[in-house]
Amino acid sequence: MSAWQEPGPAPPPSNPAVAGIMRRTGRRDTRPELALRRELHRRGLRYLVDTTPPGTNRRRRADLVFRGARVAVFVDGCFWHSCPVHVHRPKANATWWRIKLASITARDRDTDAALAAAGWHVVRVWEHEPPVAAADRVHGVVHARQKSPSRAVAGP
Ligand SMILES: [Zn+2]
Repeated sequence: MSAWQEPGPAPPPSNPAVAGIMRRTGRRDTRPELALRRELHRRGLRYLVDTTPPGTNRRRRADLVFRGARVAVFVDGCFWHSCPVHVHRPKANATWWRIKLASITARDRDTDAALAAAGWHVVRVWEHEPPVAAADRVHGVVHARQKSPSRAVAGP
């Protein structure tokens, strides 16, 4: 059973801007995600893309998965995931949108909790974050978790 409320079928988009946002949703390989991947790859980090991190009963795909370090990265779109900087509530069909966006946030938090319980570290990146800054955060977490004592390699 779902822990969050689903708002029912989407109403027709009320204007071209909303229509554009709705069309883009769910697409893989968005521009902010590609920029982050390119920056991490440049730093020599390797990861799986659009993969369900194993260990939970949720079928939620993360945008980037670092299996060894058990780090899952989500690149969240500002509109759908209610970024605090670019918060935008469509005026038409306001009730539907309020429930819809709240359900996405609730689902995000449920995903975070399920992954944390399975030993994953979740990094959420906003689509508006500069790719280098986002890569710094991801890189730092992956690096720290790769150095965990259980994985340490004996020195010379
Ligand atoms: Zn934003």
